[in-house]
Amino acid sequence: MANSRSVVIIGSGPAAYTAAIYCSRAGLDPLVFGGVMMGGQLMITTDVENFPGFPEPVPGPDLMDRMRKQCERLGVSIVPELVSKADLSRRPFRLETTEGRTAEAETLIVATGADARWLGLESEARLKGRGVSACATCDGFFFKGKAVCVVGGGDSALEEALFLARLASKVTVVHRRSSLRASQAMQDRAAKSGQIEWLWDSVVVDILGSDAVTGLRLKNVKTGAVSTFPCQGVFVAVGHTPNTGFLAGQLKLDENGCIATDGRTRTSVPGVFAAGDVMDPHYRQAVTSAGLGCVAALEAERFLSSHG
Ligand code: NAP
Repeated sequence: MANSRSVVIIGSGPAAYTAAIYCSRAGLDPLVFGGVMMGGQLMITTDVENFPGFPEPVPGPDLMDRMRKQCERLGVSIVPELVSKADLSRRPFRLETTEGRTAEAETLIVATGADARWLGLESEARLKGRGVSACATCDGFFFKGKAVCVVGGGDSALEEALFLARLASKVTVVHRRSSLRASQAMQDRAAKSGQIEWLWDSVVVDILGSDAVTGLRLKNVKTGAVSTFPCQGVFVAVGHTPNTGFLAGQLKLDENGCIATDGRTRTSVPGVFAAGDVMDPHYRQAVTSAGLGCVAALEAERFLSSHG
């Protein structure tokens, strides 16, 4: 028989765990499906220096471990399985994991996050955490005084470049075209900073270095010329993919592919709420995700009270 709950939360990042803490303290006995790779993007983050309450840097995995333990202390059931199917056509909503476990939920909080897109190079995978990163706010500090490249031409790439410009000795944005996708406002800010250099019409064909990044091998897409560009860090900012596949089109998405919400985490299906990177294309911080998880829990509680 399916496990039947007032609230089921999908995810195991700051949004999911915060929602679980609030739901549990509200007496809603939430069930969390945390996925197989529990902990979300913070599990690949080195030191977190900007989560309030930690005077000293805390490694991303430690922070997630603390959140999980806090949930467990409050009696939250956490199942490390991936939800592969969801039927949101009527309440209770029905869920099924890849392991075949099923659950029914009066309300659902989707906090499945987003995964950074990568270039897909073997050298990129090998050098992750050794000079290759997808998060300047998380890892930029380690590149103080060093030369770094940012790959991409969207708002994220320019945001990363602007952040790094305050720390690195040199920031070069490598973009595959000769015009940026980023908003004019971001382009203006980048131009005004005067600290960002540009490599246009260039794709990264390899990241160089055995134990640490030493440079990039680039190909000019117009001339076909291959060259080497020295740098000690590479920030890949070629977009994020919100994890919405298992919803199979049952919730409205926005133009970024994120779950569309109304500003109060409510989605297009009454009783389904979304929090964190799966619905937020703008801030994507652990603390903002945690805040949105709290909002989703309060909204779920409100929904349950008004629907008996
Ligand atoms: P994005 O707008 O999709 O831009 C991705 C960039 O990466 C594009 O320039 C794209 O090149 C490039 N790219 C994609 N695949 C690539 C590959 N394999 N190799 C090399 N380059 C590749 O993604 P985003 O910058 O993460 O932004 C996502 C959304 O969040 C956007 O709507 C953005 O406005 C929003 N956002 C807003 C802010 C802000 O307002 N402060 C900050 C961050 C993000 P092409 O241009 O050639 O396609």
